[in-house]
Amino acid sequence: MPDSSPPVTHDVVVVGGGPSGRIAALRLAQLGLSTVLIAPELRRVDGRTTALWQKSISLLDDIGVWADLAGNTAPLKKMCMIDDTKRLIRAPEVVFDASELELNEFGFNILNSDLNKALEKKCNSQGNLDCIIGSAETVKYSETLVDVHASSGNQARARLAVAADGRNSMLRQAAGIEVKTWSYPQEAVVLNVEHRLPHQSTSTEFHTRTGPFTLVPLPGRQSSVVCVETAQGARDLISMASTDLELELEKRAHSVLGSFKLASEIQSFPLSGLNAHKLTGQRLALVGETAHVFPPIGAQGLNLSLRDIHDLTSVIQRGLLRHSDPGDPAILMSYEQSRMRDIRLRTNAVDALNKSLLTSFLPVQVARSIGMYMADRVGPFRRFLMREGMAPSVGFRIPG
Ligand SMILES: Cc1cc2nc3c(=O)[nH]c(=O)nc-3n(C[C@H](O)[C@H](O)[C@H](O)COP(=O)(O)OP(=O)(O)OC[C@H]3O[C@@H](n4cnc5c(N)ncnc54)[C@H](O)[C@@H]3O)c2cc1C
Repeated sequence: MPDSSPPVTHDVVVVGGGPSGRIAALRLAQLGLSTVLIAPELRRVDGRTTALWQKSISLLDDIGVWADLAGNTAPLKKMCMIDDTKRLIRAPEVVFDASELELNEFGFNILNSDLNKALEKKCNSQGNLDCIIGSAETVKYSETLVDVHASSGNQARARLAVAADGRNSMLRQAAGIEVKTWSYPQEAVVLNVEHRLPHQSTSTEFHTRTGPFTLVPLPGRQSSVVCVETAQGARDLISMASTDLELELEKRAHSVLGSFKLASEIQSFPLSGLNAHKLTGQRLALVGETAHVFPPIGAQGLNLSLRDIHDLTSVIQRGLLRHSDPGDPAILMSYEQSRMRDIRLRTNAVDALNKSLLTSFLPVQVARSIGMYMADRVGPFRRFLMREGMAPSVGFRIPG
């Protein structure tokens, strides 16, 4: 009897309109796979900025969006960490310099609004890529394919679904993939400021008792501020009059950049954590915050997500040479194996650093101070930390 079921419409369906979804869709389409992206329209302006390390910048360059962005980004040449906990045991100041790794810069800081716009523009003109504006409403996985219905009424039938639909992912839940979630008693208050003194391409992170207070360079005499505070502290900052807020932020920055003038709206993001127990299911791969969420410390989140996308597309590309389909279980297993360790390590390191700031437990403060002291004084350890901060340096072979 002839098969009467509707044919496969695409090789891959990607769900999610954040940076992970769009970058994954572009990369897959550029590998020659017919791809469809289901993503809602960008509505809320994202006032954050994202520091991306060299490998992430290379990926943006490979997919053809870096040229559009580069003119309005700021290089990150030095990173300075200052213990501002005012506790009895305090760590020494540590400055990491990209030149010690023979690099011009560790990476670049990019406005999220610019990144999102550039990605959306590229997706709309990319060959092999169809864009459906809307949300994925239902998904059905089977041994050979996956069906996704969108709120627009469109249906995509593909060999693989890439879930980039964020921390509350419908695709992940429908596949029955369990997650561990946790929360932090903190929010990240985010805004941009103009300042009197030049930032000299240096990002400065003050470690305070409520979390990091970070100044990240933007073009000219501007920086983005990420201030991790208690929920009440965040509310207090948000409700301040502009001039009071400028003075308060300058005080917290110890005037290292002189006086501040607000240069954007203020937004806040409650902090939480999430780890998916698995990165794959039948005809499904998770990338980005669909698989892992942690606090914005050390600029790790999207950099980690871009390594997910790099590894997923690399195993698919290799599989295609052997005529495999992109949702083949062997390909998905290779992806799972290549990513788990990096994800667990980053999640645990960021969680531990954040908690070490909140606790007044003396042994933890001593351990953090020793770590910072070694980072300051011991050259090989220092260079290891710098490399490891940008990408895993050991043992991350993509299984063949
Ligand atoms: C204050 C702050 C500062 C940060 N700074 C940095 C930094 O400097 N460097 C760094 O590397 N990382 C940083 N991060 C982390 C980074 O912002 C995140 O890792 C990144 O935004 C995650 O992108 P994503 O695409 O995976 O998820 P999201 O941005 O959450 O995207 C998910 C998308 O899926 C869409 N969606 C949801 N449901 C559906 C559905 N059913 N159908 C279709 N679409 C759906 C949503 O609308 C959304 O567009 C920071 C985070 C915060 C909070």
